[in-house]
Amino acid sequence: MLKHMSKLCTIKQFISRKATGAYQFRYKHEIPDHLKDIEENPKPKFSDMVDYFFHKACILVEDKLVEDLGKIRGNKETKEQRQAKVKGIFNQISSCEGMLAVSFPIKRDNGQYEVIEGYRAQHSAHKLPCKGGMRYSMDVCADEVRALSTIMTFKCAAVDVPFGGAKAGVKIDPRKYSQLELERITRRFSLELIKKGFLGPAIDVPAPDMGTGAREMSWMSDTYAKTLGYKDMNAHACVTGKPINQGGIHGRESATGRGLFHATEHFVNNECYMDYVGLKPGLKDKTLIIQGYGNVGSHTHRYFHRVGAKCIGIIEEDGSIFNENGINPSELEEYKLSKGTIMGFPGAQKFDGDLMTHECDILVPAAVEQVITKDNAVNIKAKVIAEGANGPTTPAADTILRKKKIIVIPDLLANAGGVTVSYFEWLKNINHVSYGRLTFKYERESNYHLLQSVQESLQNALGKDIPIHPSKAFRTRIAGASEKDIVHSGLSFTMERSSRAIQDTALQLDLGIDFRLAGYANALVKIFNIYSTAGFAY
Ligand code: NAD
Repeated sequence: MLKHMSKLCTIKQFISRKATGAYQFRYKHEIPDHLKDIEENPKPKFSDMVDYFFHKACILVEDKLVEDLGKIRGNKETKEQRQAKVKGIFNQISSCEGMLAVSFPIKRDNGQYEVIEGYRAQHSAHKLPCKGGMRYSMDVCADEVRALSTIMTFKCAAVDVPFGGAKAGVKIDPRKYSQLELERITRRFSLELIKKGFLGPAIDVPAPDMGTGAREMSWMSDTYAKTLGYKDMNAHACVTGKPINQGGIHGRESATGRGLFHATEHFVNNECYMDYVGLKPGLKDKTLIIQGYGNVGSHTHRYFHRVGAKCIGIIEEDGSIFNENGINPSELEEYKLSKGTIMGFPGAQKFDGDLMTHECDILVPAAVEQVITKDNAVNIKAKVIAEGANGPTTPAADTILRKKKIIVIPDLLANAGGVTVSYFEWLKNINHVSYGRLTFKYERESNYHLLQSVQESLQNALGKDIPIHPSKAFRTRIAGASEKDIVHSGLSFTMERSSRAIQDTALQLDLGIDFRLAGYANALVKIFNIYSTAGFAY
């Protein structure tokens, strides 16, 4: 199916197609003054980076939105009124709707007291609930949380997950606290969110992010269910990424890595793009370097390994490892689990240089933001970058990478598998039934009836016994789809559809390989349409 892109455009059209017809606008929206020199800035404010990408997308789609409003039947607004409306909606989308900063004391195991800082930003409530992860890291600050919540708004829209964007962060290094201390912090932070209307299945639903996982989600959901949510039958839908026995869903833990794998597939299998970067289509034998070996990095490794791609290097906080013949994911995972580090892994050598700029086909930053900057982008040799982390590339670096003909699959697409499966989990929770539960037996029996009926028809027509045997592939599906099968196929469908939509937007808007801008433009139009049809101000 991906072939459609290569049929749709020749490489020449793809790179230099002239904007025609409906998309030839005069631009009016402008990049705000404080963002104008961002492309010169080696380390801009995180929220400025995200705002900059957003404003670029506004410039790109503004006139078309004004024009489209005029085509709505019965709309009698003048052009000026429509322009004012578009501007108003852009301003609304660019602002963060709610930001909560809290501090609270906890008692440590040693009897000392500590005051902990935490944040939750609800960037957009154009769709509710708001959705976005909760991270535990010493880098957490209001600006980081705001930037991450903005990315969430665009990410949800890009993959058609009907949520607004949010993010939470607690400024701690989780490795320095005992399990009991972490439970106290998580439960107390949850209470702060609950008291201020920042947690609940219909309003705001966190999920795991850096430094948090299923364990923290179960403490959060339990805190909600035992306090404000005690009468709410949907209480456990107040967070996603929970353990299965707490209402979690099969496939959530690996969803971001799996989604990243699918998104990358849709670029790397495309002849047109691979021609452009000088690679053969297909993932088999592609070399891969991953930064960050946590949830996203380790699952990404596993899925690429399964199709014959070779992870030759991994960069962690405490050092890097390298093996030109490929690193085995299950052996490394086991090693990291037992030792708490990837360093010393016998299946690879310690690497002393900078692996970010080492020769490879695909680079996956899956750790923190702003790791590809003006300073190192010039030296990056990967042909494709798939952003597992949120905000790993600064605007200056983004431009350099494009000039170097490196394809960047942006965060708002590449790591959207997590929120996609979180959406499935939330649906499961509010439906109070697991996927496949009602149809499992019916499907299996229907499949047997179908085989039986084909066999009988053939026997009647041909007058002899014709045993029908299901193929190997059909036999594995005959029993009906399990929750895991449904999650995997729903995720794969979403990543394929969204990757294709962003590729098509890039083509329509003459953006070449600027898939980040295409992603923002694609998402912006969807959010805009929600505001404009529902009436955003009165
Ligand atoms: P995690 O805490 O499970 O793993 C992060 C890993 O990165 C850790 O092993 C840590 O040691 C390592 N790390 C931290 N700083 C580093 C550095 N400077 N260099 C190299 N390694 C470093 O976190 P995660 O959930 O895998 O999230 C990683 C990134 O992916 C974050 O940007 C997060 O926002 C993004 N993300 C996560 C999810 C999800 O479902 N978990 C979904 C979408 C996006």
